[in-house]
Amino acid sequence: MTTVKYDVIIVGGGLAGLSAAAFLSHKGKKVAVLERGALGGRAVTLKIKGFNFNFGAHAIYGRDTSVLRMLQKLLDLKIDWQDFNPNKAKYDLGDALTDVPANIQGLFRTKVVKGLDKITFTFNILKTMLKMETGQPHLSIGKWLEKQNISEDVKEMMLTLASSNFFTKEPEKIPSDVFFKYYQRIFTTNKPVAYIGGGWQALIDEFVRIIESNNGEIFTKTKIENVTCDETRVVSVTAGENVFEADEFVFAIPPKELDKIFTGSKVENSIKHYASYDPTVVLVYDIGLSERIETPYTYIYDKAENMFITDISHYDTTCVPEGGQLLQATAYLRDSDLGNKAVIDEYKAKIEQMYDKHFQGWRDKLVVPRVSTRAVVQEIKWTMNQQPMPLFFPDYRNLFFAGDWCQGQGQLSELSFSSAYEASNLILAKE
Ligand SMILES: Cc1cc2nc3c(=O)[nH]c(=O)nc-3n(C[C@H](O)[C@H](O)[C@H](O)COP(=O)(O)OP(=O)(O)OC[C@H]3O[C@@H](n4cnc5c(N)ncnc54)[C@H](O)[C@@H]3O)c2cc1C
Repeated sequence: MTTVKYDVIIVGGGLAGLSAAAFLSHKGKKVAVLERGALGGRAVTLKIKGFNFNFGAHAIYGRDTSVLRMLQKLLDLKIDWQDFNPNKAKYDLGDALTDVPANIQGLFRTKVVKGLDKITFTFNILKTMLKMETGQPHLSIGKWLEKQNISEDVKEMMLTLASSNFFTKEPEKIPSDVFFKYYQRIFTTNKPVAYIGGGWQALIDEFVRIIESNNGEIFTKTKIENVTCDETRVVSVTAGENVFEADEFVFAIPPKELDKIFTGSKVENSIKHYASYDPTVVLVYDIGLSERIETPYTYIYDKAENMFITDISHYDTTCVPEGGQLLQATAYLRDSDLGNKAVIDEYKAKIEQMYDKHFQGWRDKLVVPRVSTRAVVQEIKWTMNQQPMPLFFPDYRNLFFAGDWCQGQGQLSELSFSSAYEASNLILAKE
């Protein structure tokens, strides 16, 4: 048995764990990252037949005001930003295509809302931008809209936008304060969506570079199975024969994994509560094509089916062999769809029809299809009944949590980055 002592141990080498480790090591802490598998967690990039499939679209929302952007500046991370072109984003209304109102120009061009409704919608967005509308934590956006005297078209527009940004088929359940905070950020930035050239792997490599250049250590294939605590503190964590001790601990692993490790500790019940929540789950159907199929759009959202296709290779040219194309289709799933093979097959068939409609001839150029029927986009779905986990519980004063299941800013990976940054600052503030 070997025992090693660090300033901070970070359990979990996903985006949250790696960003916390990079930031803390940059601030002079001796850190160790303990990851059970390979680095990256859900932000994984798989290379198959020359195509880099990202487990997710690696889209960063509200780039300029994001925590990732701030971390980039602080740590001097090299990120090849590829900005999304809102003029190439379309809604498929069934019989016609129209602009996604991702910015004010798009709003004036879109046919989804018309005439007076367009003005009402703009007014609601402006109110949000000017922070006149903040919503309430105890009121869902569905109920908030019911209380407003606005037309069905405007309501539907706001819910469709929420559906695509929050990766959910049930946007009406989002708390209204979360909804408005999100749109205040998105509509007040010039870069509503940006991709990372090289995919998630490029970002992971950058975090590793910062950690290693600050003498941090990274242990992969190191699964933490046990934790030892005294009355007020976590003392050590164990992986097989190895015991790791530290002054502070950041656990960047999902609540269901925490639940296995913290059984019998003072935080057992608090963690159990969050472990019982449902995640946001999607079906992803990527296709690698030998040749590009040119279209006037790079993002197309089917409003009736809540599915969208992104031309990933338009933004990240490094993810395809020369001349190739990588398209990613995502469908939002309901909890009841999970494990139901017939329903999943139906989604797949609908996605293929969507490819047929918008990328004609794809079947002849297909090199690699990749389907993932249960991709967890966010560990805790934010609804009126499910709230994110705090960054610490008062029981242990050196135990912190980070990840997209925690309280933080934005949605998806932004929650991982912002919770990691906040948890790290709580540790640094102790000095
Ligand atoms: C299909 C899909 C599309 C997505 N699209 C986007 C997008 O466009 N934009 C965006 O911002 N986000 C997107 N996301 C979300 C983003 O990928 C996640 O929010 C982010 O990767 C979560 O990182 P994390 O570090 O918080 O958690 P995780 O990635 O879950 O990391 C947890 C880590 O802990 C490790 N671990 C677990 N248990 C243990 C243990 N006992 N010991 C040691 N290690 C352990 C795991 O192996 C894992 O590496 C998408 C996700 C998916 C699946």
